[in-house]
Amino acid sequence: MPRVFSGIQPSGNLTIGNYLGAMKNFVRLQHEADCLFCVVDLHAITVPQEPHELRQNSRNLAALYIAAGIDPNKATVFIQSHVTAHAELGWMLQCIAYYGELGRMTQFKDKSAHKDVVTAGLFTYPALMAADILLYQTNLVPVGEDQKQHLELTRDIAERFNNRFGETFAVPDPYIPKFGGRIMSLENPDKKMSKSDESAGAYISMLDEADVIRKKISRAVTDSGREVRYDVEEKAAVSNLMTIFGLFTDMTIEQVTAHFDGKGYGQFKKELAEVIVDGLGPIQARYKELIASDEVDLVLKAGADKAREMCASTLADVKQKLGFVAL
Ligand code: ATP
Ligand code: MG
Repeated sequence: MPRVFSGIQPSGNLTIGNYLGAMKNFVRLQHEADCLFCVVDLHAITVPQEPHELRQNSRNLAALYIAAGIDPNKATVFIQSHVTAHAELGWMLQCIAYYGELGRMTQFKDKSAHKDVVTAGLFTYPALMAADILLYQTNLVPVGEDQKQHLELTRDIAERFNNRFGETFAVPDPYIPKFGGRIMSLENPDKKMSKSDESAGAYISMLDEADVIRKKISRAVTDSGREVRYDVEEKAAVSNLMTIFGLFTDMTIEQVTAHFDGKGYGQFKKELAEVIVDGLGPIQARYKELIASDEVDLVLKAGADKAREMCASTLADVKQKLGFVAL
């Protein structure tokens, strides 16, 4: 069975971009692969976090994984900082990755632009991400399109290590949805939807209430004209909304186009808000139950124990190959 690893940062409320680009595929893959889904809190602190919010966001994200349909009996759900091997291998791979290649990462350029202070961790983040993945001999990494470059670097790091020290890591492939791999901001169709966006109107959170969703969709930017037509060049904003509609209804773009033929933006937005409300409703209900119980904590404890076991031999192998003294 192939091994799958992916993580999401507890850096805010998850958006429908995270859901459609990544989490929906996690749920699908758990039936065909041996999956690990991680709450990557070590990544979240590459930018400032309020400690009590980070703690809450981490637990909430674990609850959301389960509420969205990840079965903790099938997949391993855990928090990154509970498994110290991530930080350990992360450091070792910082010493394999090159300064130059880290400097070429577009996420670093985007996230560090116009900032007064930029942490060293934000710069070396991709080496930690490589460690997350390579620790588990991962074959497949389901992510959104924005992570493609980091995945390529992970592959380069794995190959470099294998060449220098002998076969150690499986070289993972990305698993990026063709449709939904890059959901755009509701306020600016040139920018990806992000949970850490300063403007809450730019995204729909998976936990937004029905009326908030309706308001955000009604305010979402559209393009000139009135036709609901898919054209990423000419009608980027409407095409993004059509993509969201298609993913929530399991319709193809052709079907979405036919459905809205002759209808204007007003009708389109009304229907779109309702499919999102209906799609997120059951997840939100389950989430509320989970967050009020101790189920999440039990899942996280068992997940950390299992993950620690799963990565122990790879970490030991790396240490031995690098020349560390065994105790
Ligand atoms: P942040 O702004 O804090 O980086 P984020 O929304 O980018 O938050 P991440 O935790 O960095 O979320 O990414 C989690 C997963 O969601 C990754 O697989 C990422 O590729 C995917 N993802 C993030 N944004 C989108 C998007 N707009 N469309 C599709 N997938 C996305
Ligand atoms: Mg991100």
